[in-house]
Amino acid sequence: MTPHEAKQRLVDAGRLLEAHGQADFTNGHVSVRVPGRQDIFFMKPHSIGFGEITLDNILTVDLDGTVVEGAGRRHSEVFIHTEIYRARPDLLSVMHSHPPHAVALSCTGETLAPISQPAAIFFEALPLYDGEIDLIRTPEMGRGVAAALGPHRAVLMRNHGIAVGGVSVEETTVTALMLEQAAMIQMLAMSSGRAAPMFAPEKVRALQKNLSRPDQHVVNFNYLLRNLRA
Ligand SMILES: [Zn+2]
Repeated sequence: MTPHEAKQRLVDAGRLLEAHGQADFTNGHVSVRVPGRQDIFFMKPHSIGFGEITLDNILTVDLDGTVVEGAGRRHSEVFIHTEIYRARPDLLSVMHSHPPHAVALSCTGETLAPISQPAAIFFEALPLYDGEIDLIRTPEMGRGVAAALGPHRAVLMRNHGIAVGGVSVEETTVTALMLEQAAMIQMLAMSSGRAAPMFAPEKVRALQKNLSRPDQHVVNFNYLLRNLRA
């Protein structure tokens, strides 16, 4: 993948995140490592919405959070990205947002239950960061989020939002959308006041394996993009 192609994927991801309920005014951000580089990444700038990312306004940022290319202001929460990238060399893309159902779930004290297909991919794999409700403005706070994430793909941030990482922009984006979908289903189910028995853990793990194929995330990303353009 060329740097241009990586930037284009970031533009596409922004449009999908905007269209699928991940926007909270201009809060939220998404990034991707510069192809072939572990020390710098492309990132959405501050003061614009997810859907307003363009090839020209994307910032290039290093692992200290310093902008090395681009004129826009960078998000103060850049440290979610820098510290996850430092802790997880395997991840090539990171995002953070405030989707309402995931935030609501984080306020209940409940964990995400494996009661739907999108929830299954997070089974035993969605830790909670509860160090702060404030913006993640320092490397130390970013390290707290990265530590909570551990070896997983996503972390729920109590009373605040989600942070998601993936091996591609496509995986990061689709994982974020699946997390919000799963949280919405759970909040609806919980609002009924009833709890039905869950499937056995081994059945959920089998589904989790099926749903976690990286190629399927790319298929779904491209589908959503075609839908947006139609
Ligand atoms: Zn935030």
